[in-house]
Amino acid sequence: MHLDPFELSQPTTIEEAVRLRAEHVDGSDYLAGGTDLLPNYKMHLNVRPRLIALGNVAGLDGISLDRIGAMARLADLERDRAFASSYPGIGEAIREIATPLVRASGTVGGNLLLETRCFFFNQSEFWRASLGYCLKADGDRCHVVPQKEKCYATFSGDLAPTLEVLDAEVEIAGADGRRRVPLERLYDAQGDGIHRHHMAPGELLVAVYLPKDARERVATYLKLRVRPSFDFPELGVAAAGRFDGDRVLGLRLGLGGVETRPRRFDELTDPVVGSRLSDERIRAIAEGVVRQSRPVHNTFLAPEYRKRMVGVFVRRALTKVRDSARVA
Ligand SMILES: Cc1cc2nc3c(=O)[nH]c(=O)nc-3n(C[C@H](O)[C@H](O)[C@H](O)COP(=O)(O)OP(=O)(O)OC[C@H]3O[C@@H](n4cnc5c(N)ncnc54)[C@H](O)[C@@H]3O)c2cc1C
Ligand code: SF4
Repeated sequence: MHLDPFELSQPTTIEEAVRLRAEHVDGSDYLAGGTDLLPNYKMHLNVRPRLIALGNVAGLDGISLDRIGAMARLADLERDRAFASSYPGIGEAIREIATPLVRASGTVGGNLLLETRCFFFNQSEFWRASLGYCLKADGDRCHVVPQKEKCYATFSGDLAPTLEVLDAEVEIAGADGRRRVPLERLYDAQGDGIHRHHMAPGELLVAVYLPKDARERVATYLKLRVRPSFDFPELGVAAAGRFDGDRVLGLRLGLGGVETRPRRFDELTDPVVGSRLSDERIRAIAEGVVRQSRPVHNTFLAPEYRKRMVGVFVRRALTKVRDSARVA
């Protein structure tokens, strides 16, 4: 595995970065920490001849309780005392990402826009060529669901489900200016493992915003993976709740690592608002999530097992949030 030569641009403003990307829209990628992009390039996965480095771009950095710059390093977020004590649920998710070394370079923006993963995609070129390439890189079929002409690669970022249950928004810059959208709506419910965002080609993620009441929520993130030292999620469940005594004031549940996008299940959690989060209600929500989740055979663990674990992890996450709120 080797990295082919590429042109490197180092813009210093958001406008310059967006303009450069627009000039090379099919032939470039943004480069943040490079911890996902460059290993993929080494495996010759969708390599572009030009990289637009974001490290010197003003306005993409900074961590406060309301705003996280897209170029904030995961390790900096972990170390920021004010942030860590205000958002212990986000801290739980970050500590589950990769290794301390990867977190020292990996950024929040890169994590939210991580390439989707699949056993048949994250392989060397030699391996992929021997089987025949697939839709997501260089080929015209899917090895996971051959009957369909779409990609089922899994969204495997650990941060998105937690930020979704805290109702985070993201700021996006493009040729037509800037806009803010709820993070949950950044990911395309009708998309697939290739076309997965509501972002025009070349748009840049600028920052993540957290609403004031996010600090009042009790949040948690539970992850299933094979090797706890650094593996990507086989499943990730985030939950966040606000309570008045036993009464639920707000409840969110997010699922990642299973489908092509991280998603919330508001239609299952909203009916609980105003009542008590009993064990029966937790069980009913878990059953609803299991019914809707559709893992496919493209990661290490069998889809039937991952589907069963969805129920177990949802029950654990909701119970943990409820019980932590009681003792708080
Ligand atoms: C050994 C190993 C284990 C890992 N384990 C995990 C894990 O358990 N969980 C997990 O979530 N991740 C894991 N990762 C993936 C990765 O390290 C992290 O997700 C990291 O946060 C990615 O950030 P980055 O800045 O390095 O992204 P990059 O690799 O620089 O970029 C990733 C993608 O996002 C795009 N991008 C980056 N920033 C922006 C922006 N501001 N606007 C528009 N596009 C942008 C890039 O063009 C690229 O397509 C692992 C990586 C390694 C090498
Ligand atoms: S799900 Fe199919 S198309 Fe997508 S990466 Fe895997 S094999 Fe390729």
